[in-house]
Amino acid sequence: MNDKLLEIKDLDINYYTSEGVVKAVNGIDLVINKGETIGLVGETGAGKTTTALGIMRLLQSPPAKIDGGQILIDGQDILKLSEDEMRMVRSDKVSMIFQDPMTALNPVLTVIDQVAEVIEIHQDVTTEESFEKAGEMLEKVGIPKERGKEYPHQFSGGMKQRVIIAIALACNPHLLLADEPTTALDVTIQAQVLDMMRQLKAQFNTSVLFITHDLGVVAEICDKVAIMYAGEIIEFGTLEDIFENTKHPYTIGLFNSIPKIDEDVKVLQPIEGNIADPMNLPSGCRFHPRCNHASKKCKEQLPKSTSIGDEHIVKCFLYETNQKSQQVINYAK
Ligand code: SF4
Repeated sequence: MNDKLLEIKDLDINYYTSEGVVKAVNGIDLVINKGETIGLVGETGAGKTTTALGIMRLLQSPPAKIDGGQILIDGQDILKLSEDEMRMVRSDKVSMIFQDPMTALNPVLTVIDQVAEVIEIHQDVTTEESFEKAGEMLEKVGIPKERGKEYPHQFSGGMKQRVIIAIALACNPHLLLADEPTTALDVTIQAQVLDMMRQLKAQFNTSVLFITHDLGVVAEICDKVAIMYAGEIIEFGTLEDIFENTKHPYTIGLFNSIPKIDEDVKVLQPIEGNIADPMNLPSGCRFHPRCNHASKKCKEQLPKSTSIGDEHIVKCFLYETNQKSQQVINYAK
């Protein structure tokens, strides 16, 4: 049985602007199996949201253009579908929670109108049935049905995000793309929303691509993690691979730059330098201007993805030649 729900192969996405070409996503490969949650982690500008919008085929073109690769959902290459066919894929198979709950809702429609509208468009139901289902969906995300008659401005940030999640899950999609769904929320509401997403995922067996820059959130909700830098996935693995056996110098830098509860650290260690400019990417390894291990080879050649464990993949010359050498492990630690 094929467990692959989403398969991205060698995907390239560029933005063609008057100032030059922004190379946002550069040859990424990614697989999400049925029922799995994968965290897509990286700094702002790493290409995470562009990847998600590419999967939804919601990139504004121009300036955006998918220049190469395949995006397969249930084995079907969605880049070959017509716009009408793609409209049915959205919501039926894949749905997205956008970053900011404050702006994602229509301020002049009641909350239940907005959930019911999605159900009526994508399911073969009457208007009355769509409102009934919308009420049930609101209850599932912890909003009393009666509050559906209210407008978005009458809801708190956390409640608005629940409505967004209700809309995204209204047609029971196989794949949910969650773009920083908790970033705009305070910590207690964030915990509630994460808890609710976990329950809904278990209930509907939905696969999730969880986009975030927050490794703490990843640890709570994800099964596997893809670390993205300058439009490439530079390390991929299970939660244990990434958290307990971190390999890529960039991923190590990310962990060093967050405070640890069990260590008395006076000054955090940020990753020096700035994220690579996608309009003017460095030669060779895109991370070399910020990497303490950069060699002449790193400045000239692009490293390939190397498998260093069952599912652990890293894109770095330190691991290309002798994958299991002690020297390599010492570098990482
Ligand atoms: Fe650093 Fe070289 Fe590895 Fe890039 S390939 S992360 S520059 S050691």
